[in-house]
Amino acid sequence: MSGLGISAPRLLLRKLHQVMAGHGDAEQRLNEIVRLIASNMIAEVCSCYLRRAGDVLELYATEGLKKNSVHQTRLRLGEGLVGDIAARARPLNLSDAQSHPQFAYRPETGEEEYHSLLGTPILRGGRVIGVLVVQNRTRRVYTDEEVEALQTVAMVVAELVSSEEMVAATEFSDTAGNATLPHHVSGKVLAEGLAVGYALLHEPRIEVLRTISEDRAKELNRLNSAVSALQSSVDKLLLATNTMLTDESKDIFEAYKMFAHDKGWLKKLHDAVATGLTVEAAIKRVQDDTRARMKEINDPYLRERLSELDDLANRLYMHLDGRVQIDRRNLTKDTVVIAANMGAAELLDYDRRHLKAVILEAGTRASHVAIVARALGVPVVGQCASIRENVEQGDFVLVDAEHGQVFLRPGEDVQEAFSRSQNQRAQRQAKYAALRDKPNISKDNVTLSLNVNAGLLLDIDHFPEFGADGIGLFRTELQFMVRSQMPKVDEQTSLYARVLDKMEGKPVIFRTLDIGGDKMLPYLKTKTEENPALGWRAIRIGLDRPALLRSQLRALVRAAAGRDLSLMFPMIAEVPEFLEAKAILNKEVDRAKQKPGGAPLNVKVGTMIEVPSIVWQLPQLLTEVDFISVGSNDLMQFFFAVDRGNPKISERYDTLSPTLLTLFRNIAEQCEKANKPFSICGDIAGRPLEAMALLGLGYRNFSMSSEALGRVKEMVLSADISKLENYVRNLCNSRDHSVRDQLRSFARDHSIII
Ligand code: PEP
Ligand code: MG
Repeated sequence: MSGLGISAPRLLLRKLHQVMAGHGDAEQRLNEIVRLIASNMIAEVCSCYLRRAGDVLELYATEGLKKNSVHQTRLRLGEGLVGDIAARARPLNLSDAQSHPQFAYRPETGEEEYHSLLGTPILRGGRVIGVLVVQNRTRRVYTDEEVEALQTVAMVVAELVSSEEMVAATEFSDTAGNATLPHHVSGKVLAEGLAVGYALLHEPRIEVLRTISEDRAKELNRLNSAVSALQSSVDKLLLATNTMLTDESKDIFEAYKMFAHDKGWLKKLHDAVATGLTVEAAIKRVQDDTRARMKEINDPYLRERLSELDDLANRLYMHLDGRVQIDRRNLTKDTVVIAANMGAAELLDYDRRHLKAVILEAGTRASHVAIVARALGVPVVGQCASIRENVEQGDFVLVDAEHGQVFLRPGEDVQEAFSRSQNQRAQRQAKYAALRDKPNISKDNVTLSLNVNAGLLLDIDHFPEFGADGIGLFRTELQFMVRSQMPKVDEQTSLYARVLDKMEGKPVIFRTLDIGGDKMLPYLKTKTEENPALGWRAIRIGLDRPALLRSQLRALVRAAAGRDLSLMFPMIAEVPEFLEAKAILNKEVDRAKQKPGGAPLNVKVGTMIEVPSIVWQLPQLLTEVDFISVGSNDLMQFFFAVDRGNPKISERYDTLSPTLLTLFRNIAEQCEKANKPFSICGDIAGRPLEAMALLGLGYRNFSMSSEALGRVKEMVLSADISKLENYVRNLCNSRDHSVRDQLRSFARDHSIII
């Protein structure tokens, strides 16, 4: 076998292109391909194994091995050298294959004569769909160029095997890049619901629709323009952001810049296009190579640098003209977005008519993307490990965000079961809808206030359908997050006025801007913080940038002229913070009194209880506020010192832990003593069992996602609070990790529907 330069693979690619464009059924073409590879690479054997259901690699075509072993020789993933290449997803280059400990002899192939072996995985969408092998009699080591050439050829084979025409051909229907095999992933429910749609990868992936180029000169031009665009965008980014970057992120951008101009990287791309690959295939080829190198490297610094190269390949792809572009704001079919993780603002970027569900590899219930999704009624399943590796753009997906199940490319039986679940859910929703106009009165005649959390105009439009008493938490920051610039006072005023108009006198509690942490505004420059949840956020920003807080308060006061206004401040940690914020509000109210529009009739001002320190200053706070609202998401985060957005620990402590219940009781007790209204608006208010415990602790006012209202109402109507009170308060003395089981038993014994 001669060392292969650029010209040899080019020739081979051209011939493969002819085969691809030619006639013949799937198997004939594959046979032709292995024959071509063997003769061009001067190998005695070339074989193609494809992955079938049950993780089996089956010999589909061979030049050189005994023909009757085709469809007979099968290896499990990890078994033999072929299985090893597939399992590790990387090439194997052996001068004496038979002495390798993994070698598994298959007598039907007659391969005992061949000593050297070079094999490479056939990859599609990052998944191994087969293995391509060449073998020679002599004990020889294949050169790096030969390894690369075989990898390039494997991309062409991948294209052939996954092409629609081949998928349609029965003989390939159950290989087809595994893309036709059903796949099931379990995760955590972050926003309830059931949905059906087609997969859309949030982080764009390099899509190789064509591997071999038709016109090399044109492809080289495409590459050159994409590279120039990438280089200037990285340079610009660095210039524009230089002043606001931390040293660490500056390093990363510098590394980007270095790589974007790196001659070695660019040469590899050029060489790959020069051999006859399309730019997409060339980028993919070079990226696969980087990934393979990353797997071999243990040094964390080098790995990090390589991962930047990997990312740069994605960025280069983004600059390619003629690339398949998806317009998130104008989706054309029902879509299930799949991402590693996502910010709330990014979610709001999607076309809401067609966004049916979101699946995340990370995420927790308390993360803001989940909160926004619940507000939008978009089901979310989070913590779905490695889902991105198993999904292809456009896959049909069923999302069961009631049980945390995701089904990719489901079979008919699963689809039928799913549609039964959809019917059941519809029945449940109908049952909740029938409860809508019933008053919120417990079995023992205690009247409760059940409210919804809102933040989007959509919530307000649908408010009458919820059957809620009011809006217990209006997250004003969502309106800031959906814009590309800070909304002006007038814009804010008309927005808040619209909310009040639509609510027709029903109570609304506006919360002033709660940004920072995981809710960033693209136009508000902030430094990257080591601990954003403990950082410059919420009222801290408001007090440090009083103009920002003042403009919002001015807008709220104006919008409520001549009617009632209720508002609260987030993240108050000590009384002076509240007093400072209230002083700004009072000034605005006084100012409005002098203006033609006038001031609100009645202003009620409160705070969220989210930082544990304020609980110890409640007696002093309660003399100053009109009400408080417990933000259990943050309160729990700070109480247990667990990052609410970190799935690894966010469920380490239970929401029904006796220590947390004791804290809730303590807050309630202090408010009762001071005769100040109190409510709870964190996620737990929307969970029937948790809400039941809170009833027992004295809470009567709840605010939750609209989707949760029906089930909480059902629980409330079936509960006898007098019986609950003693029971739950006693549980506070428990030494257990959680009193969930005891509460469940209580509900069962007392026929409370949870
Ligand atoms: C909370 O912290 O409980 C809360 C309601 O606020 P957010 O979830 O918006 O931080
Ligand atoms: Mg909060």
